[in-house]
Amino acid sequence: MSAPTLEPQADWNQLYIDGEWRDATGGETIPVENPAKQEVFTEVPAGTEADVDAAYEAAEAAQSDWAATPRAERNEIVQNLLDELNARFEEIAGLLATEAGTPGYRAMGEFATATGDVEMSLELEPPEEEVRPSPSVDDKDNHIVYEPVGVVGVISPWNFPLHLSLRAVAPAIALGNTVVLKPATDTPITGGLLIAKLCEAAGVPDGVVNVVTGRGSEIGDRIANHPTPRVVSFTGSTPVGKGVAEQAGKNLALPALELGGNAPFIVTDDVDLERAARAGAFGSFFHQGQVCISINRHLVHESVYDEYVDLLVDHAESLVIGDPSENEDVTFGPVQNETQRDDLVEFIEGSLEDGATLETGGEADGLFVEPTVLSDCTNDMPTACNEHFGPVAPVIPFSDDDEATELANDTEYGLSASVFCEDAERARDLADRVEAGMVHINDQPINEDHNAPFGGVKQSGLGRYHGEWITQELTEPKWISVQGEERDYFVFE
Ligand code: NAP
Repeated sequence: MSAPTLEPQADWNQLYIDGEWRDATGGETIPVENPAKQEVFTEVPAGTEADVDAAYEAAEAAQSDWAATPRAERNEIVQNLLDELNARFEEIAGLLATEAGTPGYRAMGEFATATGDVEMSLELEPPEEEVRPSPSVDDKDNHIVYEPVGVVGVISPWNFPLHLSLRAVAPAIALGNTVVLKPATDTPITGGLLIAKLCEAAGVPDGVVNVVTGRGSEIGDRIANHPTPRVVSFTGSTPVGKGVAEQAGKNLALPALELGGNAPFIVTDDVDLERAARAGAFGSFFHQGQVCISINRHLVHESVYDEYVDLLVDHAESLVIGDPSENEDVTFGPVQNETQRDDLVEFIEGSLEDGATLETGGEADGLFVEPTVLSDCTNDMPTACNEHFGPVAPVIPFSDDDEATELANDTEYGLSASVFCEDAERARDLADRVEAGMVHINDQPINEDHNAPFGGVKQSGLGRYHGEWITQELTEPKWISVQGEERDYFVFE
């Protein structure tokens, strides 16, 4: 096995299908840009529907042997994948900085979560085979066994490309499934081709992991509606996710959906405001706010509102803005693409027109959007009612806990949320009343732990990642009954 080449400018111009590096059938390529410089640094193949078909064919062909491979042997290979990852932190951090505008401290965080995804996968166990005597037929034993679901299609986004691809790929293969992965077009390397290289180096058998880069608008439907996958795991926006679910449903593949969010951050009147504002600034500005579980709205008790806004402004203004691929002291990089920037500028301008006050930021230069704090906001302003997915902190006042929960729940989303409140009983009551799949007390909402279920309610998704929850999605229970003495069929002597 040779060490893979991971330099940003190295060739990344082939798809990985059935253990081979192949040109895309159409021969087209897609340029990949460094968002800080807005310069193309490499090109990746524009995969076609024919490439998707070939990838699913390879995954299907590899499936039964991989499922039959003893778990200990599969785990050796998954462990190799973990070792390959761990040996290459510096190179991968370089790729993340170049492709995704990732500052060093965030690269460390993403790397830790991604290695955690693989470590967790080593531990995943479907329930042991169980035998239950039939309650209705004499001398019959019901065996309940768990099998891999089969082939899994994975579509991932650009905001945490390595982690959000591995979060689905690693458990799928550890549990005996094979995979076709389509990464986002903004991050096809750290979300896809890099993973292919690491799998190749780790000795993952041919066809078990296949990676097809290409535009979602061109090959997304085929990834989702191909007759082969039994599960289509999608992480991305709610509108695209709903389309993926519809396509997957055509072949009764299970859609596992991790979608958008609009996290409220509730700050009550009894808190240590310095601590709350530090958490609030992290939750809004980490990775330029491009996290599905970022704070989208700060809901702050009216008695501490002004002081909280001032503290948040101080933190926003303390960030070191720059190109993470050139300067490791940078704590705040560019947003990923022009659509992101243009949407953000529109949301900020719309909120100002609706009466918000600009406390700091508000300007964009290239793909750098300044950390922005807006006060005098209401829940219906564009920065509040939309998932803005950027470094913007609209701060909304409330007068009591009923109003706080009403504001928090006044969104179609229900992914993550948080409550800052000293009184433990009151904090728990607020957490219970917030409609979200994940609520964090006295912390901001950007949290992910491999021993807790990750996912959302309402329009934020279907299903959960991690532990027994992902195991359930990636395995299928099977009932095998064994009849002992001949049973009585009544009508036949
Ligand atoms: P997106 O536009 O929905 O894209 C996600 C993925 O879907 C990309 O690979 C994209 O490919 C692909 N895609 C696009 N059109 C498709 C189609 N018609 N059929 C199938 N796939 C298609 O989302 P994004 O902009 O990359 O990511 C940001 C969104 O993801 C936010 O809403 C965020 O909240 C959400 N997110 C959720 C979680 C979570 O765990 N809940 C985590 C991270 C992000 P192309 O790149 O080629 O268009």
